[in-house]
Amino acid sequence: MIRRFSPRRGAVVLALAALAACDSPVESPEQQPEDLAAMVEALGFRGDMVQDFGDYVVVEGDIRIPKAQLLAAQPRPAGDAMGPRFHYRTFNLVGSPKVHQVRVDLSGLNGNPDWQNAAREAIAHWNALPHSYVHMEEGASPDIVVVANCGLGSGTAGRATWPSGGNPGPTIEANPCFSSNHAQRVRNMVHEFGHTLGLRHTNWQSRGESAGSEGAVHIVATPTGKDNASVMNGGTAGESWAGFSYNDIWAVWGLYPIPDPAVTVTYTASGDPIVSWTPVFGALSYTVRRTVWISGHDEFGSFNAIGERGAFTNASSPYVDTGWPYTGVSVCEYNNAPNDYLVNGYGYRVEAVFANGYGTGSAGAATAVC
Ligand SMILES: [Zn+2]
Repeated sequence: MIRRFSPRRGAVVLALAALAACDSPVESPEQQPEDLAAMVEALGFRGDMVQDFGDYVVVEGDIRIPKAQLLAAQPRPAGDAMGPRFHYRTFNLVGSPKVHQVRVDLSGLNGNPDWQNAAREAIAHWNALPHSYVHMEEGASPDIVVVANCGLGSGTAGRATWPSGGNPGPTIEANPCFSSNHAQRVRNMVHEFGHTLGLRHTNWQSRGESAGSEGAVHIVATPTGKDNASVMNGGTAGESWAGFSYNDIWAVWGLYPIPDPAVTVTYTASGDPIVSWTPVFGALSYTVRRTVWISGHDEFGSFNAIGERGAFTNASSPYVDTGWPYTGVSVCEYNNAPNDYLVNGYGYRVEAVFANGYGTGSAGAATAVC
């Protein structure tokens, strides 16, 4: 495989999440190509390898970025009186696959059904986060115990502990004596679960909080401007649940992405590719895609794309593909110097499919017909 087509794994997702930045949804789908290139470059990707698919772009061959994300990533205006509200995490995070099987005990809220319902709803919101590997459910041998505590004071709706030893913070206290409605309780519970996963207040500095021994590491997925919409802003116990912000989603994606399967390709004696991959805990199914990575340039500029030559859902490893025989060649190069250059890399992508997204791994295959 030529380097620019080299399969990309989880690090790419992390890198993407680490570089994307936004503040709030922007409804402005019409952009000129040169603007797209500049926005992609602002995120740290190659501006000359952008492919426009309408509501999203693909950069560097296989990294998909929604246009709304690109638009929202533009720099904030100067003179922001509220100061930075980046997303921050503690030193400690929850391990994998623990973060996908977090058990929560809500029985401590049996006497406070309003808060118990809010906590249940908060868990459902966390589980529905796109691209996130975070999954919580109620069950025995809990990792997180949620209890009621009227002693937190009239201005505090909840409190939570930080992760340690690869486990989530073990305790959340909800204050049933805090005057609140359902939407406020849901927001507070979503926020407290965020702390148990290692998310700090986005505005911890302006609130005068100390980084402390737990640390305050900037999640570079998040913007260089404030994020008023983040559920992880502190001092907001009176706010109502209005969903995760874009930055919340990207921060959690960066911290806890759905894992990517590691893919290898071998061949049967008769020359059929055998696609194998490492299992990803919790995957609902796997999809195998025959893939051609296409790139090149001509007198008009550079281009690249991904072509699909067939997809196989509900596949299991090892998957023998009887329809794409071994040729001994994995890359086709067409070089008509000086203006026309095209190279096609052949291989497979395997998606580990989850209800809220998928992880993807790739490997080259000697199935090219040039
Ligand atoms: Zn908090």
